[in-house]
Amino acid sequence: MSNIVGDAASDQYFTGNLATFATSTTGRGEGGRILDSNGNKSGEKGSDWCLGEHRKKVLLRFTPAKRRARAMARYVSERAAELPEGSKERKKFDKLSLELGLCRNCLLFKHHYLEGRVTLAKMISCKRARLCPLCGIAHANAHVVTYHRKSVQLVEEYRARGEELRAWFVTLTVKHGVSLPDTYKLFSRSVQRLVDRRREADKARRGSLKHQYALSSVMASVMAGVFSFEIKRGSGSGLWHPHTHGLLLSHGEIKKGELSREWEAITGNSFIVDSQEVDVHDVKSLCEILKYSLKFSEMTLEDNFDAVMALQGKRFLRSFGEFYGLIPDESTDIDDTILLDSPYIELLYCYRGGSYHLMPGGLEVSAEE
Ligand SMILES: [Zn+2]
Repeated sequence: MSNIVGDAASDQYFTGNLATFATSTTGRGEGGRILDSNGNKSGEKGSDWCLGEHRKKVLLRFTPAKRRARAMARYVSERAAELPEGSKERKKFDKLSLELGLCRNCLLFKHHYLEGRVTLAKMISCKRARLCPLCGIAHANAHVVTYHRKSVQLVEEYRARGEELRAWFVTLTVKHGVSLPDTYKLFSRSVQRLVDRRREADKARRGSLKHQYALSSVMASVMAGVFSFEIKRGSGSGLWHPHTHGLLLSHGEIKKGELSREWEAITGNSFIVDSQEVDVHDVKSLCEILKYSLKFSEMTLEDNFDAVMALQGKRFLRSFGEFYGLIPDESTDIDDTILLDSPYIELLYCYRGGSYHLMPGGLEVSAEE
């Protein structure tokens, strides 16, 4: 299963987010150009024979993300040049720049012409999801697919036992701060304290007197949850504004007012929250919750890089209860597992001069090979 071709859930996410990204980064909403090996724009006569609609869309969405990754590679290289020659830090930055620049330079597709299907078969990716939008999207997508499946499975398992699990889309914010590490630290600790109340409520139910307070927590009836942190600057203040969106599967109602009061008691000064019940089968909520932690399209290269450096080693995701230990399979980034028995033509696209180009000479491979 893939995020390029495959199930409707992942495809929908990929479409929505990359389309948004394309619009916001080009400023003209036109995404990127695709040229075939003869230099024709896709869609022009003479190029459509091998440009399946799906692949065309993939390349249109890949292109603006690839441009941003290249721009980040150049920026990191400039930062490296400011450091003493031969220093460990400079070597690290140079390596990072190289990896970012090479990410998804070439994409190998297989066109299974009998079925009229196209799969993305091979590519090299940098796996730097916090700096590279190409990898950021793939990373987020893998999480959406995994958490969506598990959510639906849990709701159905509980229903089969005669218990109801309701899904809540929750948002927690803290006051903006000048220092990102300090603001993040306070925020992260506060989220952890709220999450801990779920287990403390369990202890109270087992008789612990010192944890009785947790029984009135909004977390007391939560069976599974995931919080994904998002880092950005406030649009008005220019100050750092970490916040989190989360999905909570609960036996009870997560009331916004109660959540706000509890959150203010934990943080000491922040009460702006949100809580809305959602349909667990609708993947849109998880797309919104698990989208990128760093909004590339809204951040300058400098802010993006500095935020990543300041928060190295910090986790941007908290999962707990029945979600604890879920490991998304990010190898689903490519799709080479379906349609293996049919003949196909290999199509290699490489990024040159701001666009992906089809390399000449597609190789036909029969089913027997
Ligand atoms: Zn990458």
